[in-house]
Amino acid sequence: MDDHVRPHRVVVVGGGFGGLYAARVFRRRPVTLTLIDSAGQHLFQPLLYQCATGVLSEGQIAVPLRRILKRHENVECLRATVTGVDPAGRLVAARRPDGSTLRIPYDHLIVSAGLGQSYFGHDEFARFAPGMKTIGDALTIRGKILDAFEMAESLSDPVQRRRWLTFALVGAGPTGVELAGQIRELATQTLRDEFRHIDPEDARVLLFEGGPAALASFGPKLSARAALALDKLGVELYLRSLVTRVDETGIEVKAADGTLTHYAAATVLWAAGVRAPGLAGALARATGAEQDRVGRIKVTPRCTIPGHPEIFVVGDLMALEGLPGVAEVAMQSGRYAGLCVRDVVEHRPRERKPFRYRDLGSAAYLSRGRAVFSFGRIRFSGFVGWVVWLFVHIAFLTGFRNRVGAVLSWAVTFSRGGRRERATLEPVPGPAGEGEEP
Ligand SMILES: Cc1cc2nc3c(=O)[nH]c(=O)nc-3n(C[C@H](O)[C@H](O)[C@H](O)COP(=O)(O)OP(=O)(O)OC[C@H]3O[C@@H](n4cnc5c(N)ncnc54)[C@H](O)[C@@H]3O)c2cc1C
Repeated sequence: MDDHVRPHRVVVVGGGFGGLYAARVFRRRPVTLTLIDSAGQHLFQPLLYQCATGVLSEGQIAVPLRRILKRHENVECLRATVTGVDPAGRLVAARRPDGSTLRIPYDHLIVSAGLGQSYFGHDEFARFAPGMKTIGDALTIRGKILDAFEMAESLSDPVQRRRWLTFALVGAGPTGVELAGQIRELATQTLRDEFRHIDPEDARVLLFEGGPAALASFGPKLSARAALALDKLGVELYLRSLVTRVDETGIEVKAADGTLTHYAAATVLWAAGVRAPGLAGALARATGAEQDRVGRIKVTPRCTIPGHPEIFVVGDLMALEGLPGVAEVAMQSGRYAGLCVRDVVEHRPRERKPFRYRDLGSAAYLSRGRAVFSFGRIRFSGFVGWVVWLFVHIAFLTGFRNRVGAVLSWAVTFSRGGRRERATLEPVPGPAGEGEEP
């Protein structure tokens, strides 16, 4: 087809915050946009922990990209996993759900494929300690948590019961802190009157952090408040503690003084560390881009790969001036990349200024009616922090129906401790361990 008459082709890889905000700027513009995502949905990762602990359903935090973009008539959504890029031929290679491959041409490419979980060189831990990045992870964790109470209920050996009622979490960033608090609230409020042989309130939640503080990115004052709130909830916080082993028996941790301690815990959950997906390596090899320590792609101040002004990398996968891996960075950089491409398509003479991130603050949920929020020098905690948390999350949750649904679910949980989303997958039978023979 003649280059002068065919519309400009934009390919966006990833429908998370970065990819979605990039795609949205092309509505009614003279481009054909292909949005490729391996899950085919936009996932609101900041609320994964609420899905994992039965507050929200998977449908409330994950929305099909097709539905979000149904009125963007020039956008085509494709469920496929991008495996490589050919910058010379301007093609991306992708794998469909059935394993077959396809190639998609582009004039501009925007990559926002996010980051995966890192086990700091110990991938063998993953078998016993699932991370939390996808809907599948959240449902796996939900099943593990609820099954642990079921196991404890049916065992008579107090040592085994205690092991099943011990939950060990690794990483006291927002995800670890939020998940730890929710497990305690699940045990002390939701499940309180439902069991006959165990008292769910006996559940121990251990939270291990390698650094000197929980929620360190929120500053010392909010860190201290968070530690206090965790203590009130009954979460045991272990700082400067490095995980040395995870297996079916539990977790082994090295304290700051070098002491090794083994904690018998049937449920170990991982909320620490990130690493770039395989696609980042393929992209770096194809374009000569540099990667940082965790594999993020180093980009120019215009979010492009050096020497490739037609390829943008945004969101968590972009390494630029030490910007954090948070949703706001992804939204703003995604939108910025989209606008840069739009400038080219619409032949705007002036080049857009380099990308500048505007920090709009960050929030973490601690317990019912308590959260921390920081914005520059402004710090809120307790109820005020929680109100801010609530508004921020309602504002950014995608889709009107999801917002209404989430508010109703929160009303049930916050007022009565109820959790309506406790469906789990059938457990996979494992080797018989401590079960008693009939
Ligand atoms: C549990 C958790 C809690 C968080 N809490 C907060 C919070 O409270 N506040 C905050 O600001 N941030 C939070 N974050 C971080 C925030 O979610 C990320 O910064 C944001 O999602 C990054 O957006 P992204 O578009 O770069 O990547 P993502 O949102 O991860 O999206 C990447 C997309 O790319 C797709 N994809 C990946 N590889 C491929 C491929 N090869 N081919 C096709 N598609 C692919 C994935 O399916 C996914 O849809 C949290 C993250 C997690 C995991």
